[in-house]
Amino acid sequence: METQLLGDSLQQLEKAAELIKNGEVVGIPTETVYGLGADASNEEAVRKIFAAKGRPADNPLIVHLADFSDAEKYTTRIPALARRLAEKFCPGPFTIILPKNDKIPHVTSGGLDTVGIRIPAHPVMRRIIELSGCPIAAPSANTSGLPSPTTAAHVMDDMKGKIAAVVDGGQSEFGVESTVIAIENENTVRILRPGCVTREDMLEVCGNVIIDHAILNELGKDEKAASPGMKYKHYSPKADVVLIDSDIEQFTAYVGRYNGDKVYSLIFDGDKEGFPYNCLAYGADSLQQAHNVFSALRQLDEMGAEKVFVRAPSTDGVGLAVYNRLIRSAGFEVIRI
Ligand code: AMP
Ligand code: MG
Repeated sequence: METQLLGDSLQQLEKAAELIKNGEVVGIPTETVYGLGADASNEEAVRKIFAAKGRPADNPLIVHLADFSDAEKYTTRIPALARRLAEKFCPGPFTIILPKNDKIPHVTSGGLDTVGIRIPAHPVMRRIIELSGCPIAAPSANTSGLPSPTTAAHVMDDMKGKIAAVVDGGQSEFGVESTVIAIENENTVRILRPGCVTREDMLEVCGNVIIDHAILNELGKDEKAASPGMKYKHYSPKADVVLIDSDIEQFTAYVGRYNGDKVYSLIFDGDKEGFPYNCLAYGADSLQQAHNVFSALRQLDEMGAEKVFVRAPSTDGVGLAVYNRLIRSAGFEVIRI
């Protein structure tokens, strides 16, 4: 199929909304990463998302709504803590897992009886939700396993010929996917995927925030994933990625042993001066690193990198989200010096 590239004028957004209403899949900008959107209540449309991405059928999709009050239509129970969190973090890069009702088919929820609900803040995504009148299921718009897309061009690279259209809304602001949380009890939240709403942010609303073990650790063979996405290889460019947790002196010494044409280092902005090998910088602080991490991994592939050594980010605040993505793109290959 031909994939149309649409702009963000009202007329073009009406076209995107019409395609979604008619059961097609459209690449849509959000403030986190680009999503692959379809009508979450239409099984056939949702199947097209899984097919375009090559996504395993048991990996559930997040459902995007215009307002948190709309969550009543698709869930059976909304705990008071979920409402308090939504008041503070919605709209934004924040997803709450809730018990779903029959309006959300099991195809969308990956067979689970729960559904992730997010209220995106990006004006283009919001307008498309409103114009279509649909709850929009939207996973990241990459081929399963590859780094998530933060520009319309990235979506085209992965999805050209596989979906009806891509809407270009500029570069995604945050650059990593939403924080996904589950409600453990009336005062406790469990982070299933870290994002730009951090543990510290949530502690302002609830007493206890648990960071799920699988966020920084590889699941054991018989361990059950709290979130199905944790089971799968993720965010990997073509190049082999190794994460190195050390200062820049040790990092430089380690990388020097492997130096070669197709070997690159992904380092911090402040590391660049005098760094003697092929390199790319991905930011000076955690917010910048979140913004740049996926586009940097895609860029390294374009540069022909076969091996990439990444200087591990801090795990504080938003850094936890960056570390979580990188440790997965490295297949949990971490060198601590
Ligand atoms: P993506 O679609 O790429 O943004 O990934 C969505 C993430 O949210 C995946 O890691 C899913 O496993 C997770 N997720 C979505 N819905 C649920 C759910 N109902 N329960 C647990 N995790 C979920
Ligand atoms: Mg994804």
